[in-house]
Amino acid sequence: MNLIDTPCSNKLEFQNDYLIKELLLVVPTSCCIYDCPFCPTKKLDNSHIANLYANNNISSSVKYEYSERFKFAKDNGYHKLLITGTAEPLQNIGFLNFISKVYLEPTNRFNWFELESTGYLLGKTEILKWLYEKIKVKTISLTVLNIFDDRINNFLRNANATQADSLLTICKKIKDFGFNLRLNLIAGLQHGSEIFNPANLLRRSKELNADEIVFTTLRLGRELNQNDWISKFLLPNELYGNIRKFINTEGHEASNIYSHSETFRYDGINVILPKIYDEKFPVNEKLIINENVRLCSGSILSKFLLF
Ligand code: SF4
Repeated sequence: MNLIDTPCSNKLEFQNDYLIKELLLVVPTSCCIYDCPFCPTKKLDNSHIANLYANNNISSSVKYEYSERFKFAKDNGYHKLLITGTAEPLQNIGFLNFISKVYLEPTNRFNWFELESTGYLLGKTEILKWLYEKIKVKTISLTVLNIFDDRINNFLRNANATQADSLLTICKKIKDFGFNLRLNLIAGLQHGSEIFNPANLLRRSKELNADEIVFTTLRLGRELNQNDWISKFLLPNELYGNIRKFINTEGHEASNIYSHSETFRYDGINVILPKIYDEKFPVNEKLIINENVRLCSGSILSKFLLF
């Protein structure tokens, strides 16, 4: 990737048109350790699959199935592997140990590896070392419910195991270890008056030493209780409009690096905004390997089976 800052225009250009295509790898887990009120997946329990990876007796056919799908994604120009889950992925360390051996084989190897996490266990040096050296994660995508207030983060997650470390400390540990830090911000939860103040939000991202921030929108689902809660926080168009306006004067528009999103640069940070916000038509070009090793396209909640 060759990023050039063109001094005479207000736009950053990539030397070649460059779009990141992501393969999502869903880590099999039991129910999530957290209990976020907006979560559509927290009750999904795949412990029957997750337990298969608890020991090292994994059949060679499972390994072959994963290899085939990695190869398909690579043959179709997917070069980023995003490790994610329907619950916190670090709940299944046995699986990550297994799968890293598969995706690190030369024929399966991707250009880069990213892990999406709530921050669970990321305060521990031995976990960061293991992720960096063995699992070869290069970017940590930290999902943050509220960038300003750790208490709100813990409260919203109903976290029994409250993070001992503050968000600032976890981000520092991640960066000190050499990872890229991507903050995955739930747009509607960046609370109170701060939500309408992009300058504060971006200043805070800078303080946390983020390389990239990306905004996620809560989507309505099937559960009425959840939807009542979520509908209070569906403010993204206003937030995105304010951020766009602020960055257009204080930062740069940049060439897009993800399809269906807009990329900006602000004080050394990539700022990724969804290009289209439409509740009914979430646009997606992601490939996903499910817990049961089936390959799909779409999003984690709305999938189309390939093979
Ligand atoms: S941490 Fe994620 S998966 Fe777990 S309950 Fe919260 S939103 Fe759901």
